Amino acid sequence: VIEKGQAEKSVLTVCAYCGVGCAFKAEVKGNEVVRMVPHKDGGANHGHSCVKGRFAFGYATHPDRITTPMIRHSIDEPWQKVSWEEAINHAASEFRRIQAKHGRDSIGGITSSRCTNEETYLVQKLVRAAFGNNNVDTCARVCHSPTGYGLKQTLGESAGTQTFDSVMDADVIVVIGANPTDGHPVFGSQLKRRLRQGAKLIVIDPRRIDLVKGPHFEAAYHLSLRPGTNVAVANALAHTIVTEGLVNEAFVAERCEDAAFRQWCDFVSLPENSPEAMAEITGVPAEALRGAARLYAQAGNGAIYYGLGVTEHSQGSTMVMAIANLAMATGNIGRAGVGVNPLRGQNNVQGSCDMGSFPHELPGYRHVSDEGTRALFEGEWGVPIGDEPGLRIPNMFEAALDGSFKGLYCEGEDIAQSDPNTQHVEAALRAMECVVVQDLFLNETAKYAHVFLPGSSFLEKDGTFTNAERRISRVRKAMPPMAGKADWEVTVALSNALGYPMNYTHPSEIMDEIARLTPTFTGVSYDRLDALGSIQWPCNADHPDGTPIMHVGEFVRGKGRFMPTRYVATEERVNKRFPLLLTTGRILSQYNVGAQTRRTGNAAWHAEDRLEIHPLDAEDRGIADGDWVGIASRAGETVLRARVTERVQPGVVYTTFHHPESGANVITTDNSDWATNCPEYKVTAVQVTQVNQP
Ligand code: SF4
Repeated sequence: VIEKGQAEKSVLTVCAYCGVGCAFKAEVKGNEVVRMVPHKDGGANHGHSCVKGRFAFGYATHPDRITTPMIRHSIDEPWQKVSWEEAINHAASEFRRIQAKHGRDSIGGITSSRCTNEETYLVQKLVRAAFGNNNVDTCARVCHSPTGYGLKQTLGESAGTQTFDSVMDADVIVVIGANPTDGHPVFGSQLKRRLRQGAKLIVIDPRRIDLVKGPHFEAAYHLSLRPGTNVAVANALAHTIVTEGLVNEAFVAERCEDAAFRQWCDFVSLPENSPEAMAEITGVPAEALRGAARLYAQAGNGAIYYGLGVTEHSQGSTMVMAIANLAMATGNIGRAGVGVNPLRGQNNVQGSCDMGSFPHELPGYRHVSDEGTRALFEGEWGVPIGDEPGLRIPNMFEAALDGSFKGLYCEGEDIAQSDPNTQHVEAALRAMECVVVQDLFLNETAKYAHVFLPGSSFLEKDGTFTNAERRISRVRKAMPPMAGKADWEVTVALSNALGYPMNYTHPSEIMDEIARLTPTFTGVSYDRLDALGSIQWPCNADHPDGTPIMHVGEFVRGKGRFMPTRYVATEERVNKRFPLLLTTGRILSQYNVGAQTRRTGNAAWHAEDRLEIHPLDAEDRGIADGDWVGIASRAGETVLRARVTERVQPGVVYTTFHHPESGANVITTDNSDWATNCPEYKVTAVQVTQVNQP
């Protein structure tokens, strides 16, 4: 516990780790936060917290923080400390030089789900108004972009449907490709409370996560599927629901498009989608598939929660639509205890998507080709906006290797560590003429940067985060920015240096602009957030205090639309050379690539990433628990220590990716979701061999 005496003040803010968005009081002494106390009135956490939010804030003042801007003319040169003015002017003149030489579309920006809504909004505005193109993307590209696509197509809004508290009304809970007790701990605890009260649980996951069996609860079904076969499982569940007469006909007739529903029924009823047929593909016994489908469909209230085990696949968007289809077919939408609930990994995944940091969408999920939307933003911003989508993150890398993309502004995202196929990403970064990294630490991406702009932690700035239940909460400054500028001020300075003036004096003014331009945010302001504590969007004239549960009475798109969900096997297949399938995840005490948690006491609890391997696979290869193993894929190879465990099924191995030296993303491939390019992190064919200690 980091507790250094009596606090002088207490600042209400929100955790900067996962998408639960727990409210905390940051207790401050001098210019340092000394304690984080979970806030009893927090809308998402009600006074609860996990180890990360409570204790893992020390990274904010870690000696590794870079607090002086730096530049260098080549990535082989040492960094040179410079003033803010010199660094910003250098970045701006390099961007303008590149555009003069290679064209307006030769530069772009990447923002992060770690950033506040206001910061993300400014990055996409900078790209669109100052760079003059739509080459802006967010790290949500590599996690929940299929959620945005799939839920928009089916339900009409790119967001989860419920509050977290809604789980307490669920009778049957389905958890697909998520590990809430580690990834979303406060919600995981709430979910377990509901299970202990008697709710039934279905887990769909290749790995035996803690939820499968715990003190005083046990999943009714654990569908331990082969990685990459989610859609096959969903189609088998749908087949059972349709062919056994378990559809909620009244709900579908009243709330959904009839023709699309009939087509879907015809498709899922085909024998090729039967549990018996899908058992072959998925490895899940047909009776378990049928039993799980019956349990969910016959629940009074059935709620689905899912994570990156759904989205990070070549059929990520298809699976999101398959989940929405199941919820519509059974009438499990539009009231407490039901719904389709994406568990967002980072603190502001929802917000970064809401704020238009996608190359095809302006804030509020409005396509850049929509003339009326463009006119609205052009009127406010005073510049023309392109009507063609810009480059997604993987397209930026390809364009860099082609020689047409030369400059990148990257705020808060370590693409060289977190994006798949590291060698490919590094080659793309090397090919650029100006990479500007804005971050707390000299991360892996900064190795390829020419300008480093110091970032600010969530404790050093004002703003808002939006959690997985669409809850907008205030982030409040508890200490001054260590580098003298908050992130939003850096983007403003860069825009001004580029000749596009931004004149905000406080992030509240940015939120006011967002509210003016975004129909789902028109009722949001800092004053209202102060008064209400937090607000779940949509918040507007129709929903002045926000919207805890969506699609009540009517879907956002009017009628719900069933979408086709044909199962297509991933290209990432096992063969003689790569006989095992690797999947990935994270643990409670660490967070994503570990940039923050590795710089706190939590590091000691999880000093390394390990490869989980089933005893049968380990025995075949002469691998004992704790041995070093080489893992090779079609993309690359790395070395980890083995953990021999029955948590994984034979033929499947698993690792976390919290430590850069583990090189998990050296081995992940370029395969991605067909609709959104979300990488297929969850399926990599690998070979595992015992090796000597490196
Ligand atoms: Fe932070 Fe998530 Fe833990 Fe809450 S559950 S304290 S938001 S990491």
